[in-house]
Amino acid sequence: MLRFAPSPTGDMHTGNLRAAVFNYILAKQRGEKFLLRIEDTDMQRNIEGKDKDIMFLLNLFGITWDNLVYQSNNFPRHRQFAEYLISKGDAFYCYCTKEFLENKREEAKARHEAFRYEDSWAELEKESNPKPVVRLRGSQNAMKFTDCIKGEIEFAPNEIDSFVILKEDGIPTYNFACAVDDMLYDVDFIVRGEDHVSNTPKQMLIHKNLNYDKEIKFAHLPILLNDEGKKMSKRDNASSVQWLLDSGFLPQAIVNYLILMGNKTPCEVFTLQESLDWFDIGKIAKAPARFDIDKLKFLNREHFKRFNEQDLAVLLGYKDSSIGALAKIYLQEASTLNEIREKVDRIFANKALVLAQLSLQNQEIESQEQEILEFKAEIEQLQKVLLEMLEEKDFTRSDFNDFKQQAMERSAFKGKKFFKPLRFLLTGFAHGPELSDLFPILRLYLKDILRS
Ligand code: GLU
Repeated sequence: MLRFAPSPTGDMHTGNLRAAVFNYILAKQRGEKFLLRIEDTDMQRNIEGKDKDIMFLLNLFGITWDNLVYQSNNFPRHRQFAEYLISKGDAFYCYCTKEFLENKREEAKARHEAFRYEDSWAELEKESNPKPVVRLRGSQNAMKFTDCIKGEIEFAPNEIDSFVILKEDGIPTYNFACAVDDMLYDVDFIVRGEDHVSNTPKQMLIHKNLNYDKEIKFAHLPILLNDEGKKMSKRDNASSVQWLLDSGFLPQAIVNYLILMGNKTPCEVFTLQESLDWFDIGKIAKAPARFDIDKLKFLNREHFKRFNEQDLAVLLGYKDSSIGALAKIYLQEASTLNEIREKVDRIFANKALVLAQLSLQNQEIESQEQEILEFKAEIEQLQKVLLEMLEEKDFTRSDFNDFKQQAMERSAFKGKKFFKPLRFLLTGFAHGPELSDLFPILRLYLKDILRS
């Protein structure tokens, strides 16, 4: 069994989604079940509705699960296992107060030593503290495991001191609930972020003390870096899955990129389904992967190219498949759904209104839009000419040269004075793809496009 174990304490991070994707792929490749486990052990930090958001996003990315578990439903079982460990003497009540431990921590710091809990402190405050926690006895021996990505990882004998498994309110800690549930649901391969490397020996120790000796494989994913090469944090937009979607990146392209980054793959552009044939977790680089938004834009364009024109039109809010074909031409300069939509919508916008808006924003607009304002008079005149032409003739089958020739003759404009206004009237922008490429589609809608 493979599992994805998100905490419903915040928005889904790009790194979390990457772990979900990898676990899902491994489950499919190994013909095993995939468990979605909502790790809601931190009652204070749980946020209402985040579990549903996570499920919605996973579905959007094509990730389905065979089994859904809320960890809090298993609290009674976690407690039973803790009691069992206490009865064997492998776990014990610790009455140390937070203040006591804080002092010990300060003392260790003053001695320039790492803080280690000492079992002899457990009952020093028994009389004054009615709310003990339960700790599992630390390891006397060195511990190690082999990570599919990082190789062998070792922990010295004193590194795993006795740690809390049940908090003072009887709620299990992350490590305990996680280890018990991985055992209960027969999880045998765990893929998660590398921030969990230090938890792994603790979870192994819990299994050992519960006499559970199934070998579990681990793959800890290197952190993601932002485009400046620093650890990606919540402040980086690309760290938020929702931000990527809101910016017009396709789920297909995002999944593609999460599988591609820091990996050796046989090709660059693929679907989640296609990656099942060759994905190899052992090929993920040990070094942190840098999130390159330009690469994601490239993949987004590639996935748009794979769309059929009708679907693309619908995605943009139009019904004719020819609008999908038009959108594909704009992939030369637009990468996200939002950018493409802006281009297509502007074609059909009322150009007089666009001009009026540009004049209002005169101070802030870019040079390409300034160019449009320079030709305001010519634009208005050419629009009249084109509308007259449309009254007289049906251009839906004409080629661009005929249309252009007639418009040029009737308007008597030449060069830039003709082409800039023409491009603006047909597309709403001063620059863009070749008009001769766009025209075979634009000609079908000239009345809509040129209406005043
Ligand atoms: N709830 C943990 C997290 O979201 C899961 C860690 C794990 O996969 O064990 O980081």
